[in-house]
Amino acid sequence: MSDVSKLAVIGAGTMGSGIALVGASKGIKVSLIDVSEEQLSVAAAYHAKTMDRNVQKERMTRDEADAALGRITGLSNMADASDADWVVEAATENADLKKKIFTQMHDVFGEDVVLATNTSSISITELAEAVPTAADRVIGMHFFNPVPIMKLVEVIKGRETSERTTQRTIELSEAMGKIPVPANDHAGFVSNRVLMPMINEAFHAWADGVAEPENIDSIMTLGCAFPMGPLRLADHIGLDVCRDIMLVMHRGLGDDKYLPAPKLVELVEQGRLGNKTGHGVYDHG
Ligand code: NAD
Repeated sequence: MSDVSKLAVIGAGTMGSGIALVGASKGIKVSLIDVSEEQLSVAAAYHAKTMDRNVQKERMTRDEADAALGRITGLSNMADASDADWVVEAATENADLKKKIFTQMHDVFGEDVVLATNTSSISITELAEAVPTAADRVIGMHFFNPVPIMKLVEVIKGRETSERTTQRTIELSEAMGKIPVPANDHAGFVSNRVLMPMINEAFHAWADGVAEPENIDSIMTLGCAFPMGPLRLADHIGLDVCRDIMLVMHRGLGDDKYLPAPKLVELVEQGRLGNKTGHGVYDHG
């Protein structure tokens, strides 16, 4: 049973918008904060569309959908969410940026507020160093994409994370309908340490002419029983996010096998980021 009633989510991209929607669907008031007004509009449109579909499919009534939507407020200024009792940072995967955001979070939110991060790969202990007096309240709360569907929350303690923070994170994850599973604080944790090198290798295989993307994905879905091939999954995650996670693992684990594949970097530089931009490995219309 979680005591969280007001959640602040920093970053309204793929993950932040999903976390906000799940929180609001479970009765929590959510402030969704992004530096980009445009992204806040994209998130609002995604929320409305997802709830319309839920009503059509009779997963909830129109009144329940409207009540959940009414619990989400989009904001461009973090200070306007200062009464939140929990914050999840879900901004771009960049350690320097996240450390700046953590410093700001520490200034804005109250002394008992947990400062959780949805980072895919950055060390929780490193992020906590940005807020030394609050390091016991910093924790990795790693949701999966798409957040409304995926059940897992990977829970990562930093060196100073308290037992109370961990217990409350487990309680909030469960209250949001998720299954928390612990992992230790190594770059990429478990999920991306295992997944991202496979995705990266699929880009190498494509560049080397081993097969075209459709066939790489078909071979992995039909032959290895993956629900989605690695290149389609990369589009789903965001190619920029995949590149950034590889860079964090390269820096954190110190092995060149984690360098992002040139083909992945090339597509990112062309602005082909996957589903979110309409083009990535595939065209999404
Ligand atoms: P995204 O690019 O879709 O969204 C990031 C958002 O952060 C953007 O809207 C950007 O405007 C915003 N932002 C940047 N600086 C900000 C600031 N100072 N204040 C507020 N907002 C700011 O990225 P995403 O895919 O949603 O990833 C967000 C985080 O979640 C990353 O740490 C990523 O590694 C992690 N993650 C991603 C996935 C995935 O599948 N995409 C899965 C699990 C975790």
